[in-house]
Amino acid sequence: MLKPTKATSALLVAVAAAVGFAAGPATSSASATASQYALATQTLPDGNKVIARWNPCQTITYRVNAGLAGNTAARRLAAVNDVKRAFARASAVSGMNYRYAGTTTQIPTNTSASTWYGRQTSAEIVVAWANQSVKGKKSTLLGRSSSGGYVAGTGGYAFKYWKSGSAPWTGVSGRGFVVLNAAQNSKFRPGFGAGSTRGELLMHEIGHAMGLNHVSSTSQVMYPTILSRSTAAYSTGDRTGLQRLGTANACVATPGFVWNDLS
Ligand SMILES: [Zn+2]
Repeated sequence: MLKPTKATSALLVAVAAAVGFAAGPATSSASATASQYALATQTLPDGNKVIARWNPCQTITYRVNAGLAGNTAARRLAAVNDVKRAFARASAVSGMNYRYAGTTTQIPTNTSASTWYGRQTSAEIVVAWANQSVKGKKSTLLGRSSSGGYVAGTGGYAFKYWKSGSAPWTGVSGRGFVVLNAAQNSKFRPGFGAGSTRGELLMHEIGHAMGLNHVSSTSQVMYPTILSRSTAAYSTGDRTGLQRLGTANACVATPGFVWNDLS
């Protein structure tokens, strides 16, 4: 983390990693209300609490590391296609523009003096499968569940805030990650159909990367446990949250010294 200085420009970084799903049983859904979405917030140095948003007017690139997503090329390709479909679903709701920039071998993780968001220079968001028992394939961003095992997935963002001269502090998210636990691949059916699906898991973690927090409503994709459903779809609360984070609200003019736009 960079600390603010007495110079005219100051820059700080906040990283939020929200833990993901554990497999769970189906439950009935509830009607949607405004309380069925939760937006991540950050507190600026002046005490102003703001919604942790991306600039909805920029193209957000993403790369995929599906090397551990399946044991055949066809299965890995299907996983990449599920990632693309999940981003398309988020885009359809938020209005934000995501562009697939290809594959990568990177797995977002914090292992060195520089942090993942500083090393992540090939795309704004990296989606990767990790294996916590294989050296070189682990991610410290993949947390443990309350039962002690690693969670099925995690998603998050890096948010930087800055000020220039006498202008007030401003902040914006500029890098994100989705890390899925390859050891739990078999718990999630490919696609977005019936059951507990990889598609919904991806939609959930992308929701975190965009700035959605967990909610208690079981009908929402942002419920913290994946449930067996008839189909994977953002529900009313999820959609309201993504709309508030998206193009329905103002652009965030982001100086290049804050985030290098990779689009
Ligand atoms: Zn989650």
